Amino acid sequence: MSSKRKVAILGATGAVGQRYIQLLQGHPWFEIKVLAASERSAGKKYKNACNWVMESDLPKEIAEMTVTDANVEAVEKAGEVDLIFSSLPGDLAGSVEEEFGALYPVFSKASAHRMEEDVPLLIPEVNPDHLGLIPIQQKNRGWKGFITTDPNCSTIQMAITLKPLMQFGLEQVVVTTMQALSGAGYPGVASLDIIDNVVPYIGKEEEKMECESNKILGTFDGKSIQNACFAVSASCNRVHVKDGHSESIFVKLDQTPSIDDVEEAFRTFKGEPQKLKLPSAPKNPIVIRKEANRPQPRFDRDAGKGMAVTVGRIRKDPIMTLKYMCLGHNTIRGGAGAGVLSAEFAVAKGLA
Ligand code: NAP
Repeated sequence: MSSKRKVAILGATGAVGQRYIQLLQGHPWFEIKVLAASERSAGKKYKNACNWVMESDLPKEIAEMTVTDANVEAVEKAGEVDLIFSSLPGDLAGSVEEEFGALYPVFSKASAHRMEEDVPLLIPEVNPDHLGLIPIQQKNRGWKGFITTDPNCSTIQMAITLKPLMQFGLEQVVVTTMQALSGAGYPGVASLDIIDNVVPYIGKEEEKMECESNKILGTFDGKSIQNACFAVSASCNRVHVKDGHSESIFVKLDQTPSIDDVEEAFRTFKGEPQKLKLPSAPKNPIVIRKEANRPQPRFDRDAGKGMAVTVGRIRKDPIMTLKYMCLGHNTIRGGAGAGVLSAEFAVAKGLA
């Protein structure tokens, strides 16, 4: 890497924005130059604009930076940047990310552009070739930059586990999630709504899980993505856990692999980030726990520095073929860590 890429974070004061700041400290390829958020925060020092909830201390130089508005003019005025990490709310991200995408590589956490035909819904271990959509998007839109998106925080960990199962003929997936509080952003769910409770509804989450996986696991034919053909049914719940989404997954397969075959498929699964030794790539994207009572959020969410998905309780199912539990860190593998890995991959491929 000749010199570090200068980055702006849009939504820098939120749950994912804070995680970006934490993960980018000392990053070998990226340095933070601009922090942007809403009008409420713009003009304030970062330490006064945000309630820092990361486990590590707020870095001193970040604390003193002035937050700017999340638009191109304000960001360019605040500093020179090469690429954009966007963790804006979904309803706002659409037009703002397009404004930036015309000029810069944009790595988006929001749902706004995920299902657009010329936008990659990228997990570098799972569908690296989908980055082939970038030149098509640039041509379609007449853009110098581009937008690439990461999947929803529940979909991403499920899709990582489904990829190695595709070889056995994936037909149906039924998933029930137990999603952490930080998934609702900051300050998120009111304490009196969630203490001593489970909330069996997360707006638009089930719809996202039910459509994103088919695009992620689809095939890029050089022009567009042909969606994978399996059915997904999701039921999403908010639980009283700080970080880490747990998922109970049932799959129907065309074949009937042994549990040993399935474990082997999970254990040996690696992708391009591992081959390229990208700075944020976990050694193993999937970690298997053999204990009867794992994975658990408190013990397993930080596997692979939060970038590995932990799978356990793999067993045969009398109705479907197979069932297992999986767990991933929603603001790292499901959030900022995924954005950083996607950007590292795009840089390694000469796109950013
Ligand atoms: P959050 O904690 O609510 O943070 C939202 C951020 O957006 C804040 O920095 C906020 O700035 C900024 N913002 C709000 N309204 C704005 C406006 N009108 N103009 C400019 N900036 C504005 O949300 P989050 O959990 O970080 O989620 C951010 C995005 O990532 C969402 O699209 C979400 O769906 C997605 N995501 C979240 C997770 C997760 O686990 N939390 C995981 C994956 C993806 P102020 O502080 O100034 O209001």
